[in-house]
Amino acid sequence: MSSATLFKIAAIPGDGIGVDITEAAKQVLDKLAEVNGTFRFEYTTFDWSSKAYKARGWYMQDDWEAQLKTHDAIYFGAVGWPDVPDHISLWQMILPIRQVMNQYVNVRPTRILRGTTPPLAQLQKTPQDLDWIIIRENSEGEYAGQGGTTHGHTANAIATEVAIFTRVGIERITRFAFETAKSRPRKKLTMVTKSNAQRHGMVLWDKVFFEVAKEYDGVVEYDKMLVDAMTVRMVDHPESMDCIVATNLHADILSDLAAALAGSIGIAPSSNLDPTRSCPSMFEPIHGSAPDIAGKGIANPVGAFWSAAEMVRWLGKGELDAVADQFMEAIENVTGKPDTRTRDMGGSANTMQVTEAVCREIENVC
Ligand code: ATP
Ligand code: MG
Repeated sequence: MSSATLFKIAAIPGDGIGVDITEAAKQVLDKLAEVNGTFRFEYTTFDWSSKAYKARGWYMQDDWEAQLKTHDAIYFGAVGWPDVPDHISLWQMILPIRQVMNQYVNVRPTRILRGTTPPLAQLQKTPQDLDWIIIRENSEGEYAGQGGTTHGHTANAIATEVAIFTRVGIERITRFAFETAKSRPRKKLTMVTKSNAQRHGMVLWDKVFFEVAKEYDGVVEYDKMLVDAMTVRMVDHPESMDCIVATNLHADILSDLAAALAGSIGIAPSSNLDPTRSCPSMFEPIHGSAPDIAGKGIANPVGAFWSAAEMVRWLGKGELDAVADQFMEAIENVTGKPDTRTRDMGGSANTMQVTEAVCREIENVC
């Protein structure tokens, strides 16, 4: 259909299974577009990977910012390979993209998809008890990249890692979290810090959070947790939470725990959002490049598909929410059947078989 809205996607497959699952995601997105008919995708694929870095000495071209900005969204697979230290791959590519593209929000929805077996017996009985959105501050905090090393090669090595917290940064993530909580049926928000031990940045975080919270009194129910106690609550009382907002580091850790509680790291999605929409937002599964299974064609593509569904939701600006919901329904129809689950979900299907099954379900559901 020639009148279909065109979405230009910058695809960065990256390393390891990132390549397989990005290919799989493109296939299901194209199927969704074909079945729906009101939109279509055009991809530019960027060969920005650790393998390329080893061969040529750089991850991204100097004009990467301008190149990415000609797209409506970025779809990212995974970066990292054992022969390049992780802090290099992260700081050569993914962290600069998040910072320069103003993606100050990282959204990580977690729930137990049909067919997954969560490790906790209690959640196996009542999977609906785990239904969270983790909202991670994505631009500053502990991953601000500030610090230094002195006497690095001696027995007296000293290193500092400085976390940066700004009022502006805390306020905008808090507001986003409250707005997200307000849009959900349960309207609850839990804020996580470590303000008993870290008495500057974390105390500022608490202060700004409670200032913003006043605007939502009577609309959103909110509470505060210390991050250590939060890990216990996530395991013992998952039903007591709805939306969770935390710093860059804390939310990174909590969302891995959340993914594991929901049954597999291969399922979990994430969105790096610029809420102002002045730059393209970026969508990626939370798992890494999984060198142990790379090249075998057995990676679970569900986290990549869920991330793609969130990309559709974002691109649609409210107009494609129903399509994204149907896309999720198609995914869960596939995870719900034992013969179309990958190994990490207790099945024996490969990436391609799951992808083809989701494409068939899209034809049925969407
Ligand atoms: P990163 O540093 O990039 O976060 P990581 O070291 O945390 O990566 P992953 O690459 O996410 O690790 O892999 C962790 C484990 O989970 C590995 O055993 C890997 O095989 C498994 N895993 C990750 N993603 C998937 C997937 N999509 N399907 C199946 N197994 C996966
Ligand atoms: Mg990891």
